[in-house]
Formats: sequence, structure tokens, C-alpha cells
Amino acid sequence: IQDFFMKGEILKPGQSLNLQLAKKIAKIYEIKISFDIEETEEEAIENPLAEIEKYFETKHKDSQNLVLRPPIVTIMGHVDHGKTTLLDYIRRTRVVEKEEGGITQSIGAYQVEINGKKITFIDTPGHEVFTEMRARGAQATDIVVLVVAADDGVMPQTIEAYNHAKSANVPIIVAINKIDKPNANVELTKQALVSKLSLIPEDWGGDTITVPISAKKGENVDTLLEMILLVAEMQEIKAIPDGPVRAITIETKLDRGYGPVANAIIKDGILHVGDYIIAGKVLGKVKALVNDKGKRIKEAGPATPVMIVGFEELPDSHSVIYSVESLNKAREITEKIREIEQRELRKKRHMKLEEILKMMEESEKKELKLIVKADTLGSVKALSGAINKLQTEEVKINIIHSAVGAISTSDVMLASASDAIILGFRVKSDTQARKMAEAEGIQIKTYTIIYKLIDDLKAALEGMLEPEE
Ligand code: GDP
Repeated sequence: IQDFFMKGEILKPGQSLNLQLAKKIAKIYEIKISFDIEETEEEAIENPLAEIEKYFETKHKDSQNLVLRPPIVTIMGHVDHGKTTLLDYIRRTRVVEKEEGGITQSIGAYQVEINGKKITFIDTPGHEVFTEMRARGAQATDIVVLVVAADDGVMPQTIEAYNHAKSANVPIIVAINKIDKPNANVELTKQALVSKLSLIPEDWGGDTITVPISAKKGENVDTLLEMILLVAEMQEIKAIPDGPVRAITIETKLDRGYGPVANAIIKDGILHVGDYIIAGKVLGKVKALVNDKGKRIKEAGPATPVMIVGFEELPDSHSVIYSVESLNKAREITEKIREIEQRELRKKRHMKLEEILKMMEESEKKELKLIVKADTLGSVKALSGAINKLQTEEVKINIIHSAVGAISTSDVMLASASDAIILGFRVKSDTQARKMAEAEGIQIKTYTIIYKLIDDLKAALEGMLEPEE
């Protein structure tokens, strides 16, 4: 019941289940469930993508069907720590010069080759793509490179990025950047990794790979790339080498010449010019594929970044793209998705702190996930300390992210991906964040008096404790 609740489904005893959700939850607990025919039909009506998703799931279960694919890497870190410089350096030195007739334009990701092995980099630094895809149930990144400037150390956005990567369970490699600067201090930076992020560098006996680099001069960047390949090898990242396509969208835009395009990375299968595709409620037929060197290609396989031309309208910027066998199929599915969207918009309900606590009361696992935003570092620390003190043996409180500043869309995305509640202290949420929270059903509670916040939380938590015998 709690798991269903966390996914926004409220159940009463004796009520029938949303099968899609039931399947997902059963999978987490490794429980097999079987359906009779009636139910399978019902499921097909409820989830127009069920058949397609099942195909990819089944194929992925049998590793004989799979091949290793290059890792997809996102670069994250604090502003000005050198993310863009690093991405530019790698692209400039590693991407073979643009091919004949190619047009220079970024397609959101690029691929490089080191010792005959490929790596795909998402070309926009930061965690937006990453988190937004995750909130939609798709993993866009296999490895995160966390850039930390050696003259500045671990800063608020370093922590934020780290929390995003951690909550998604994605391996992190730390690039300690700007080592060419006279005031760079690699040792001090490593100390900050330990004290602020509990990341212990390998050479200090831990298991976090750290690479000191200069993104500006290119020093040690090759080592960083080799480390990425090493981690990728350990992860055994696999893909279906042929057949229908599943791809993640990095960005979509209205191109002057091409019309609506999606910049995407293929995750499974091979996409061909001429294939019918869907991205959420938008359908299309692939008119052209353009690679990261600006060259038109006929087909694109796993981990290939590609600009896809041929959508009827502009798809959602972070939808999953699938290829389907016919125009009819594409129509059928996208129409159903439209219908469902309309319906869900009408019945969307908000998750309230009180409701979550009430549901937890009836279940074994009692963990409350919180995101804490406050006006000053002092407030953040004081609040986190006070909130953590409320934790009991029976109820675990997990502050998955805390920082200074207004409540942003990034906080809402993290809350949505992790089923958390956002607490604000003497801060507001920006308009966009508020809108997004409404759409995603995320609760934001703001306070101006610290004891009011604590009292509220305490009262709620006390309500969920089991009565002593
Ligand atoms: P981002 O905000 O993380 O994308 O940071 P940028 O890549 O824009 O870099 C911020 C500033 O730091 C720029 O002026 C860069 O030239 C500089 N910078 C980045 N990497 C290095 C480096 O390795 N050494 C030095 N000295 N400067 C760097």
C-alpha cells in the first residue's frame, strides 16, 4: 500500500490494482505475478506502451541477446568549476574533424573514441537532463563525472549534483580540475570530498576514483577518459544490438530548415531513415538522421547521439522515443497517450505530508524523504540537525538534499524522482518550480519560524509511531 501510495495510487482494502504499477512494484520485490487474459487486455488499454516496454524488458533479461554498448556520461559540478571547458576540450581534441559537407551544430551529445572504445558525452553540463529523464522512469546516464575545482573545493552545487547522482545510483568519477592554477590544492579538495560528501579517494583507501586534471590545458584528460572506460567495463552496460529502437531525448527544437527535431541518444536497437517513431504523444517518420559530426547517416545504433528529423510536432523535451512497425501503430499509441494525459490531468492529486505519514503508519518501512531549502547556511545546518533529532528507531528521516536558496525546478524534479517532500525555511519557490510541483504532485511546505516547522514535523511523526504495548 505504501509503495502504491508513493506512486500516487491510493488503495482501499479489496480494491483492484493498477496493473502497470503492480508489475513495477512486484519487480522491485522480485515477486512473480501472473495475469489472466481479461486483465492483460485491461492493462493494454491502460498503458499503450505496455507491449513495447515488455519487448525491451524481455530482451534485456537474456544477456545472450545483448551486446556491450559505450557508456553515456554526464558532467556535473558547481558553476565555473570547468564543466563546459572540459566538454569543449574533449570534443575539440577527440571528435574527428567534421566530415565533408557536414554542418557544425551541436546535437546535444557527442561521441569520442579512446583506444578503439567509444564514450558518449551529453553535451549540456548539469543534472537537468539526467534528473528529468529519471523522473520519467528512464536512466539517461551510466556514469557521472563530478568536476570540482581544486582552487575552490566542494561547493553547494557540487553537493547538489552529488545528491542527484547518488539517489540515482550512478557511479561517480571525480575530476579535480584547474590543477594548473597556482592556488590549486588537490589534497584539500580531497579532504573536502571526504568531509562534505563522504567520498573517499582510492589513493586514500576508499573506492572513489579521482583524477586531477586541467580542462584548460588538457592535462590528464586522457587518464580521465581511461577511467571512464574502466568504470564502464565494470558496469557491463548492455544494449539490444538490432530490431526496434528505444532512445532518450536530450532536447527538442524547432529547426529552421528541418522543422521539429529531437536530439537523442539511442539506447537499444537500430534506427533507420524511414522508420515510424513515437515520442510521447507525438509521432513521426524518420526523414533524416544527422550525427554529431553534422553528417547525414542512414542508421544509428546503441549509444549513438543523433538528430532525428521527421516528427509531426515538437515532442516533449525529455520523452523516450520508440520505433514502431507502422504508421497505424504509431497513431494508435499516440492517440491513447493523449487520451490518458487528458484523463490524468483531471484526476491528478497531490501528495500531502499528512497523507504520506498516514500511509506509512500502516506499513513496516517508515522512511520520510525530505528536501530542505533555507535562507542561510546556518539555517540549513540548524534545521538539518533539528530534523535529524526527530528520527527514531521506528521512523527514519532521510534528508536527500539540503541547500541554501529558493526552491527550484531542480528540487522539484529530485523530489519527484525520489518521492520526497520539500521543506522551505524563509525561502520561496519560484513560479516555475511551483507550477512543476503542482503538475508532478509534489508537496512544498514553507515556514518562517523554525519551531513551527519542527512542531509540525514532530506532531506528524508522533502520529505515526506504533502505540506502546
Ligand atoms: P562551468 O560553469 O563549470 O561550465 O565552467 P567553465 O567551463 O565555464 O569554466 C569557468 C572558468 O574557469 C572559465 O574562465 C575557464 O576558462 C576556467 N577554467 C576551466 N577549467 C580550467 C582549468 O583547468 N584551469 C584554469 N586555469 N582555468 C580553467
